[in-house]
Amino acid sequence: MAGIYIHIPFCKSRCKYCDFYSTLALSQRGRYVEALKRELELREADFKRIMRENGECLQTVYLGGGTPSTLCESNVADLINAIRSRFNTSFIKEITMEANPGDLTEEKLRKLREAGVNRLSLGIQSFNDRLLKIIGRRHSAQEALDVVRMAKRAGFTNISIDLMYGLPTETLEDWQKDVETAISLDIQHVSAYCLTYEESTPLYEALMQNEVQELPDELLNEMQDCIEDMLQHSGIIRYEISNYAKENYESKHNSSYWTGAAYMGLGAGAHSYDGQFCRQFNPDSLMKYLQSIEDGRLALTDEILTETDRFNEAVMLGLRTRKGVDLSRFSEKDRFFIRKQAFPYFENQLLEQDGDVIRATHSGTRLLNAIIEDLMKE
Ligand code: SF4
Repeated sequence: MAGIYIHIPFCKSRCKYCDFYSTLALSQRGRYVEALKRELELREADFKRIMRENGECLQTVYLGGGTPSTLCESNVADLINAIRSRFNTSFIKEITMEANPGDLTEEKLRKLREAGVNRLSLGIQSFNDRLLKIIGRRHSAQEALDVVRMAKRAGFTNISIDLMYGLPTETLEDWQKDVETAISLDIQHVSAYCLTYEESTPLYEALMQNEVQELPDELLNEMQDCIEDMLQHSGIIRYEISNYAKENYESKHNSSYWTGAAYMGLGAGAHSYDGQFCRQFNPDSLMKYLQSIEDGRLALTDEILTETDRFNEAVMLGLRTRKGVDLSRFSEKDRFFIRKQAFPYFENQLLEQDGDVIRATHSGTRLLNAIIEDLMKE
């Protein structure tokens, strides 16, 4: 199940916790969309070859960022049409666009729907104005509520929202209210991430200056349990460490990353994978990207994966999902290695085995990073 990822690196302002590559140079949007179409043209033949060799067809498109909703609807339609004109899109099941609440109107949402976007991923993070302000988000809680309702009226039937927990000063009650609000909106998918203080972000600086405090691990665990339980009661089931969905609404694009399918990433900072041994990276710089594409040159850097890289990635991605790691995909020697490393975790009920599949138990998900590290090869 191959996919195309399109990175839109523009943001209207920088959130205080974010260390992703993005730029405030909104004046370059038109030029950037032209460059994306040119890159698509330059890479069309190679990606078709990759899909042919892997026996895959194009099934998902994902516009991520940055903030894709900083683009106007005609730019989005232009990009989707460029894909339609070059690829067989009759197997496409999902076209996702990430969006920030403050950028959308009902009319824009209708036009995005008409352009072919059939899944919306809204960067809401919290329904609490105090917390939104602390992390430097542009929108208000009311705008977040309004945008979900507008999206439904515009015809979206597959809506995901991103929430964050562990925010400075956040209480368990604050988080419960956020989850209750999410449930009341009757959406199909929730991604929930624990705040991490990334170096070089304003929030990390504030932490270093003692202006904000990290929440204790015990509270973070309670918040994690709280969302899992509350969503589960509403039929929104955890299928990956940070992702929850109603049945049949799991993100197809992200699920194909986790199973090692090929994808072509277009745009500044985007990654690609051939589904075998090669990753490619575009430069993390808008200007470098634009200059090279406008000169008719790709600016991709290759990374060749070793067998160990591929093994480690399969273990890590598998253990992050509810489906778990399917041992039948590995050689006899690798299966033996995984079982040997996993043995103490079976004994402590942190991992469980079901036929050929190994997955983390509820308690295991809290220690997942350490478990994954132990199951990886050096
Ligand atoms: S909108 Fe998204 S990409 Fe842009 S600064 Fe905020 S979190 Fe980062």
